[in-house]
Formats: sequence, C-alpha cells, structure tokens
Amino acid sequence: MLVGCGSGERAQRAEYAVFGTRVEIVVRDADAAKTAAAFRDTGALLQRLHRELHPWEDGDLMALNAALAAGRSIRTTPAIAELIRVGQRLERASEGAFNPAIGRAVSLWGFHTSDYPITEPPPSDAEIDALVFARPSMRDLELDGLRVASANPAVRLDFSGLAKGYAVREACRTILGHGIESALVNAGGDVLVCGAGSGPWRVAIRDPGGGVLETLTVERPLAVFTSGNDYRYGEFDGARYAHILDPATARPVDEVIQATVVAPDPLLADAAATALVVAGSGRWRSVAARLGVARAVVVGADGKLGRIDDGAHGTR
Ligand code: AMP
Ligand code: MG
Repeated sequence: MLVGCGSGERAQRAEYAVFGTRVEIVVRDADAAKTAAAFRDTGALLQRLHRELHPWEDGDLMALNAALAAGRSIRTTPAIAELIRVGQRLERASEGAFNPAIGRAVSLWGFHTSDYPITEPPPSDAEIDALVFARPSMRDLELDGLRVASANPAVRLDFSGLAKGYAVREACRTILGHGIESALVNAGGDVLVCGAGSGPWRVAIRDPGGGVLETLTVERPLAVFTSGNDYRYGEFDGARYAHILDPATARPVDEVIQATVVAPDPLLADAAATALVVAGSGRWRSVAARLGVARAVVVGADGKLGRIDDGAHGTR
C-alpha cells in the first residue's frame, strides 16, 4: 500500500495495487486517526477481494471454475454468490452483451495476463467456434444459498467486467462506516463518489484520443465507469483486437471504442459500460434503455460521440 499526501491540506490519499490497476482512495475533511483506520480496513478488503475474484490465479473464483468444469457443485463465497446473481440479471437485461460466463473465450484470446499488449497470434476459427457452439451463459448456473452448480461445463466465470464495481461499492461502505462523509474511490479511472460532504468532486471522462472528453461535477454518491480499448489489447500483424468480446461470436468487438456510464449503482455502471461497447453502434441505445442506464457517453470507432442524458441521474 502506498499512502501519499493529498494535494490540498484536507485531502488524504491511499493507493493499492489490485485488480490489475491502482485503486486510489481520497478522503476529505476527516481527522487523521479516523482516516488511517478507514484506509487500513479498505486495504484489507481490497486485497481480499483481489484474491477472491482473481480470474486466473488461485483463489475462490478459480476453485469454483475448476469445480464447474468438472461438473461438480461447490460452496462459494457471499461476494461471488452476489456477483453470480447480478451477472444473471445483467446478462438478461443486456440481451447477452454482458456475459461473465465467457471466461474460456477471454482466456483463449490471451487476455488472462498482466502483460500488454498481447503479441501472440489470435486463436484459430475452429477453437473460437467451438466456444460459440458451447454457449456458456449465466443461465446455466444454479445457485442454492452459497452452493453453485452448472448445467454447462463450458461456463468459466470471469468477473473482470463487474468486479471493480463491486469492490468500489464495498470500499465506500467501509469508508462511510468509519464516519467519513467525503470520499471517492478511483479504480484506474473507474470512479465511485462515496459522499461529497461539504463540496463537489470533479470526475473526468478521458478522451480515447488523449486528454479529457468532459468533466463532471459530482455532489452525491454516483459511479462513473468507462470501458473500451485502453491499454489492454492484442496486436498481431498490424491489427489490434480489444479485450472485450461479443459473447455471441466469442470475438473482439470494434464498433464502439469507449463507453462511459454514470449511475448510482457501481455494479450496473461497470457492467453496462462493458455491455455498451459490445452492443455496438446499432444497438447500444436499446441495450442502455433495457439496462436502465440514464446517462452515458459513447465513442464510436469513427470518433463520433453519442450521448444519453435523460436527467434521471444528475450529478447534483
Ligand atoms: P471492463 O474493463 O469492465 O469493460 O471489463 C472487461 C473485461 O471483462 C475483459 O478484460 C474480460 O476479462 C471481461 N469481458 C470481456 N468481454 C466481456 C463481455 N462481453 N461480458 C462480460 N465480461 C467480458
Ligand atoms: Mg465493466
């Protein structure tokens, strides 16, 4: 854990290297002892979730995946059980664009790594089509309390499109539980404002071409999540492929290069941002509507911006 001094006198910061990124917590207007205790508990929480939800290193999620692949049922953790329930709902609501059961396809494309860009050749059509044919879906999972079983051994859970949303929600709960009123969690550009206290936070949405697309002034608990062609991509023979796959084809998407979703629920914001990238130029508006997304900014491969702002989730 790295703790830095705040830019302003009243801001205190902590940083943790988890989920393949840096998670930064900023607390304002709180005394040092309270803040130190909140940082300690939040750090422990994030480390635990990092291990528990890791998509390819040993931990609870990998134990679950091994059991499902072998056709066995297994007792999992409350966090994973909640992510399964939320994932089932969001797969349905996104018309299949968001599907955390496609971990085998993510792995096949080489995205279970921390080394980017990937320079391995892409998988063969035969390998990819075998996964399309196997149709792994969250619907295949049956949850009885904490016990999970799968009707389909091709299901491999990868919550990378949802875990940060879960983690920032839990981090904010921990911080607020220490009596801190003004705090923000920034998970590598995906932000949850826990509370604004006396003044607003400024949250920037980056421009995929560099710089800032727009800056939001946020005065209440709100999540701002962005998905897209960031540094996580593969490059082979001059062609780039994204780390976001269309579950229907098990292949990388290319129509939408970045989607930002603003919503009170960080799990929805996280999954919906991924889903809008998958849904593509023709379908992102209808998928956003079905997911109940009231605010989004979408950047197409042609550089064109699309927006939804129905006024329901204002920042104040
Ligand atoms: P995010 O950065 O939140 O958009 O999540 C992207 C990550 O989620 C990828 O690196 C994959 O591990 C996983 N993923 C890729 N495609 C999908 C998809 N269609 N639905 C759910 N998760 C996905
Ligand atoms: Mg996501």
